[in-house]
Amino acid sequence: MTDEAMVRELGRLLDPERVLGGAAAQRAYDCDAYTVDRSKPTAIVLPESTDEVAAIIRWCNENRIPFTGRGAGTGLSGGALPALGGVVISTKKLTKILEIDIENRCLKAQAGIANKRLSDAVREQGLHFAPDPSSQTVSTIGGNIAENAGGPHTLKYGVTAQHILGLTLVDPQGEILQFGGKIPGAPGFDFVSLIVGSEGTLGLVTEAWVRLTPLPNAVETALVSFPTVRDATQTVADIIAAGVIPAALELMDRGIMVALEAAFGLKYPDSAVALLLIECDGVGERACDRVRMEINQVGEICKANCAIDITIAQDEAERQKLWLARKKGVGAMGRLAPSIVTHDGVIPRSKLPEMLDFVYEVAAKHNVKVANLFHAGDGNLHPCFYFDDRDPNQVEAVVTAGEEIVRKCIELGGSISGEHGIGVEKADLMPFMFTPDDLRLQAMAKEIFSDGSLCNPCKVLPNQKSCVEHKRRWRGVAW
Ligand SMILES: Cc1cc2nc3c(=O)[nH]c(=O)nc-3n(C[C@H](O)[C@H](O)[C@H](O)COP(=O)(O)OP(=O)(O)OC[C@H]3O[C@@H](n4cnc5c(N)ncnc54)[C@H](O)[C@@H]3O)c2cc1C
Repeated sequence: MTDEAMVRELGRLLDPERVLGGAAAQRAYDCDAYTVDRSKPTAIVLPESTDEVAAIIRWCNENRIPFTGRGAGTGLSGGALPALGGVVISTKKLTKILEIDIENRCLKAQAGIANKRLSDAVREQGLHFAPDPSSQTVSTIGGNIAENAGGPHTLKYGVTAQHILGLTLVDPQGEILQFGGKIPGAPGFDFVSLIVGSEGTLGLVTEAWVRLTPLPNAVETALVSFPTVRDATQTVADIIAAGVIPAALELMDRGIMVALEAAFGLKYPDSAVALLLIECDGVGERACDRVRMEINQVGEICKANCAIDITIAQDEAERQKLWLARKKGVGAMGRLAPSIVTHDGVIPRSKLPEMLDFVYEVAAKHNVKVANLFHAGDGNLHPCFYFDDRDPNQVEAVVTAGEEIVRKCIELGGSISGEHGIGVEKADLMPFMFTPDDLRLQAMAKEIFSDGSLCNPCKVLPNQKSCVEHKRRWRGVAW
């Protein structure tokens, strides 16, 4: 089928104005925030209902055309990359809140709504949707579900999986399926848990029931600077070992401070090489006293690890100012280089000092620039390599350095991904972590829904049929 015919035929299934084709649209949808690999779709569709999604997927099946779901495209592992071309199904128009049930503390929304809008909708009732990826103003609940997204507050509140009660899924054949609902803990096999984190390979989520959590009424936030990264990482290990579980425990290194100073004029002590953003919170009558005691205990641990400066926010405005360092860190890196690749391996927190030393060594060995800002409390690293993806040598160096870091995470008893997913970026690295039997079982779980050849192909599992020869092409386009 020609490109024009495909766009025309899709225009019969939904309003033709919601079917995009042509070079400009194809270019806009050829990657997510992992820009190293790119592959163009033929058409992009913008359905407005579950029924329209189902009709599109059935049409793709009848015509043997691959399809890939896409939320906001902020994914960092190439998950929304249309690896074999075909149709991108965007959830951009699926943005309604369908029901708010304050009594039962849950909410039902369409999958394309931005994460933060869920919390905004129930803030006055003293509730929020707890998973808060740093991309939360734009990333969608569908994308968060697909990637099992985490965020700064997942140390205390858990990742997306812990907050999804039910979903509507259009499976890879175009059947509309319902799993879970308002009431948690339904008997039988837990398909909601299987679908959360499956990276859009088991179909398209169109609606979700999410859990709502009480907003803390006591919050204490501190920004602490340290003379070395080792002092900061040791502090993280000591805080957790002392039995304190802060709501957030985030680390930023000198590279991030330099970017923040350049982009936003923020100032940090000259001798500071690492920053920790630490937030303690609580709910209930005695929460204020409890939380103040916690932040004081944390402060003592910081001092014992040579903290240079401890700033504790005195009001909400000051708290927001301290959070700027964390929230604007990645954006600020745009001032340093045109491209960023961020790995997200996980290690036991006690290994953070050793692991960070290794990250800097690997970067120096491959002559790549790296800055770190990450969910230190979860042991979830984010070495951000900044470079120019038009230079093949730089791309090669970044990919090789990333692979060495991922291998080291496994060697230290960790995992190859904490929250960004496997996508195309790490599919080939899966055998480092899983045995052939593990991977076969995962492939069998996927086959419950379909043979997987059309629905978001080439993601998560390594060496899938018809993907191997395309890999060189994805990167070739970027060059
Ligand atoms: C600045 C920045 C900060 C970030 N911070 C964090 C962070 O703190 N924590 C974190 O976990 N991640 C973070 N991310 C990564 C990213 O935002 C998350 O992975 C997010 O969940 C992706 O959502 P999205 O809507 O952009 O999805 P997309 O990137 O569009 O898609 C991601 C994957 O989900 C699939 N998908 C999308 N919608 C659906 C659907 N409705 N049904 C089924 N599959 C679907 C796609 O096929 C793809 O595989 C960050 C990214 C950026 C750029």
